[in-house]
Amino acid sequence: MSDAPAYGFDTLQIHAGSRPDPATGARQTPIYQTTAYVFRDADHAAALFNLQEVGYIYSRLTNPTVAVLQERIATLEGGVGAVCCSSGHAAQIMALFPLMQPGTNVVASTRLYGGTVQQFSNTIRKFGWSAKFVDFDDLDAVRDAIDDDTRAIFGESIANPGGYVTDIPAIAEVGNAAGLPLIIDNTSATPYLCRPIEQGATLVVHSTTKYLTGNGTVTGGAVVDSGNFDWSASGKFPSLSEPEPAYHGLKFHETFGPLSYTFYGIAIGLRDLGMTMNPQAAHYTLMGIETLSLRMQRHVENARKVAEWLEKDPRVDYVTYAGLPSSPWYDRAQRLYPKGAGALFTFAVKGGYEACVKLVDSLELFSHVANLGDTRSLIIHSASTTHRQLTEEQQIAAGAAPNVVRVSIGIEDADDLIRDLDQALAKATA
Ligand SMILES: *Cc1c(COP(=O)(O)O)cnc(C)c1O
Repeated sequence: MSDAPAYGFDTLQIHAGSRPDPATGARQTPIYQTTAYVFRDADHAAALFNLQEVGYIYSRLTNPTVAVLQERIATLEGGVGAVCCSSGHAAQIMALFPLMQPGTNVVASTRLYGGTVQQFSNTIRKFGWSAKFVDFDDLDAVRDAIDDDTRAIFGESIANPGGYVTDIPAIAEVGNAAGLPLIIDNTSATPYLCRPIEQGATLVVHSTTKYLTGNGTVTGGAVVDSGNFDWSASGKFPSLSEPEPAYHGLKFHETFGPLSYTFYGIAIGLRDLGMTMNPQAAHYTLMGIETLSLRMQRHVENARKVAEWLEKDPRVDYVTYAGLPSSPWYDRAQRLYPKGAGALFTFAVKGGYEACVKLVDSLELFSHVANLGDTRSLIIHSASTTHRQLTEEQQIAAGAAPNVVRVSIGIEDADDLIRDLDQALAKATA
């Protein structure tokens, strides 16, 4: 689809990146279940290995099925290229990898997916990287946290579990003033509800495990580049601006321009870290993306109905959902996320920890799982599961207080979801 930008979102989610298979005419994207690709001749092989010609060598780096997904996600996000990875967490490491050196840091929002807080607090230290966590609603604090060793700013568009939505344009302005790229994890919003690049982000990461695949079948991740950051301007990004010894001194930014970050992710990142998405996973995610907008509309519609019902229920203390006027982020969500504030929120049950555990055990339609973004409605009591190692103080700070449960609202009949919550709340608070 050479004239892709002329099409609307609903068309692009089905067509971007895909074309009938040149060998067979197959209309659906085939699963290219192959490890390697035959070179035309020795010169062709040499050109591929020198990065003088783009093509397929080995599926740790590139695969035609995965390539279609990369192009589709990049198109939906309004980026120039994308690298798919084996999971969302792999994509986060992949996003930082071209930017960081030992001794550098990333300034990150305090309101992040729990696994990301863990990855950034502990695991990245093994690479000599570190993270400084700050409240993204305090722009002065973000500015103050940036130092000479900062290489990126990292936040989530819609951050679970607390119903927080990030003011991406305001944070992007801080990043621009400091000459730093802003990375936005857009997993919970998806490009249907939010396109971070249009709001000033440089890079977008996804756990494709969630809404992009949409039905809880495979793990995956993606890093999308806007293509509009000057990696050579400050001298802070030598991986992209300086000669690369593994490719005869090639300079990625000088050679590949706006595609340099994506090519570095594939040619160095996937080659040496190996956190590759497999073609089966890419196939499931391509299937899911075809219906993304339809699912997101229903996710949002159901989330709003369920949140409104819960907020009025006397057995519930409060609901944190940016789609409700009671949320401190309601106005921001209306302005920056006009199609909806997603389908993830938390609510507090009267009766505290014990009532929450009983509620989760009494639900029949909701599944008790550590996942989100499924067609099915999901629930988890964070304090007794994902956040049980934390002190009560840390649980409260993370939006996972003992009296709170988190739901990921699916695309079932909203009335059925409400009836299930009603009967379970009766048992939980009896
Ligand atoms: C799930 C999730 C991740 C991690 O993704 P995996 O695919 O589980 O590795 C990162 N960020 C957010 C917002 C998530 O929901």
